[in-house]
Amino acid sequence: MIDFQRILNEILGDLSTAKDRGTVASYIPELAKIDINKFGIHLIDDAGNEYSSGNSDEAFSIQSISKVLSLGYAFSIVGDDLWERVNVEPSGDPFNHLSLLEMENGIPRNPLINAGAIVIADVLVSRLKNPKDDFLTYIRTIASDPSIAYDPSVARSEKETGFRNYAAANLLKSYGNLENDVEQVLDFYFHQCALHMSCRQLANVFYMFMNRGKCLHDNKYFNLNHVKRINALMLTCGFYDEAGEFAFEVGLPGKSGVGGGIVAVLPNEFSVATWSPGLNKKGNSQLGMLALEQLTTKTGRSIF
Ligand code: GLU
Repeated sequence: MIDFQRILNEILGDLSTAKDRGTVASYIPELAKIDINKFGIHLIDDAGNEYSSGNSDEAFSIQSISKVLSLGYAFSIVGDDLWERVNVEPSGDPFNHLSLLEMENGIPRNPLINAGAIVIADVLVSRLKNPKDDFLTYIRTIASDPSIAYDPSVARSEKETGFRNYAAANLLKSYGNLENDVEQVLDFYFHQCALHMSCRQLANVFYMFMNRGKCLHDNKYFNLNHVKRINALMLTCGFYDEAGEFAFEVGLPGKSGVGGGIVAVLPNEFSVATWSPGLNKKGNSQLGMLALEQLTTKTGRSIF
């Protein structure tokens, strides 16, 4: 039996003296205010046992991690028709790149880059009665945690500085790949990115992706086929243009966000979330990547 608690404590101890913690994202002004010294990790094993270390109960802006959750929701509503509007190939480009979108006639490379997530947001805006409320209720229900909320100041900050996202949405609209108004879709998108959650809450919500579609409370949200596809997308597209490096160093499907969070799953074994706000040059949490590399090395467990 793996002593997860000892390993998480060792990781925290080891990383607490790290000199290079990366740089906190500043292009969304509200995110620049976060203390770079925060670090948390939370792991839930297949039996539902929980282990944590550091600031694992402190909520932060989950940013692009939300793209997996909106994708899962949209996929469960529309099924395989989704893939007519968004592709499933890694982009090898930063999250907000637009050139590929134009080259590929308004079909985003995958649902985990911004343009793809904006198409997914459009699907949800079309299908849900009260998109922002319904999405939040969906997340709260999976987690059995009504305290999960949007951070309105982060959503506002993103809206004020989201020039590239406006550009992507307008480009999608010009190619006929956006059904709703740009403003309406981006309002939803900025809110989903502004979900405020802790490592504990993230590991809890992502438990269903390691547990064949069933959440921690035994309700089924996805079938095996859905989970397989979502985990494949996390593995190949979850880390901007560093998905190869993450697979190489860590060896788990996962997703990062510019708030410094990373969530990853080992199917049938555990879900884990880390938070350290300093990012490396590719936009992934510097210490979060190191922590997960240590986790899979020390436990000898990865999908490979
Ligand atoms: N809301 C951010 C943006 O669209 C998400 C960035 C990220 O976490 O990758 O710029």
